[in-house]
Amino acid sequence: MKSTQLQSPNCDEREAGTAVALIVIHAISLPPERFGGDGVERLFTNRLDPGAHPYYAGIHQLRVSAHYFIRRSGELIEFVAPEKRAWHAGVSTWRGRERCNDFSVGIELEGCDSLPFEPVQYAVLAGLLAGLCDRFPVEGVSGHSYIAPGRKTDPGPFFSWGRLRRELTALGRADLVARIEPAGAADDDDRAAMRWPFPVAARPG
Ligand SMILES: [Zn+2]
Repeated sequence: MKSTQLQSPNCDEREAGTAVALIVIHAISLPPERFGGDGVERLFTNRLDPGAHPYYAGIHQLRVSAHYFIRRSGELIEFVAPEKRAWHAGVSTWRGRERCNDFSVGIELEGCDSLPFEPVQYAVLAGLLAGLCDRFPVEGVSGHSYIAPGRKTDPGPFFSWGRLRRELTALGRADLVARIEPAGAADDDDRAAMRWPFPVAARPG
């Protein structure tokens, strides 16, 4: 699908023979809870100005990335080709396997723990997931909070896993619905936050 390419240096090669088995959904906004700026692009390309916002002083040295970023407008930016390893998950475990960066693709949505996501973000995400599942032997789709519980809260209480399932079905990809691991009813758009199992304390990212 159509994407803007903006290469991040924060990546390396996957170990030979390691397949992409997992897709990790994240949410991020920079500054936190502010949308539309260039902070995320700058963070992922090591160009964040520590003087531009007080929050940036503590994070500008981080060397992090995600493969994809979906803006509130639906714009899709690719920072790292999915064949390579991006640095998005940190200390993490999925199905007993540690270091999820090794075998996952990371997708960041522009968002935060306190506001709903945009409908177009779900539509773009569903299309991206479908394409990735066609290219790689993806077994599961999860959220950062589920593979790093207690350390990360994203994509947060307002991300609707039920809506993501519906978008996949609407795309004609009901075959992928079972790979979406977190629970969520089909009509949970307004109630996603009520089932939120994680303390909201960590920063988005
Ligand atoms: Zn994250």
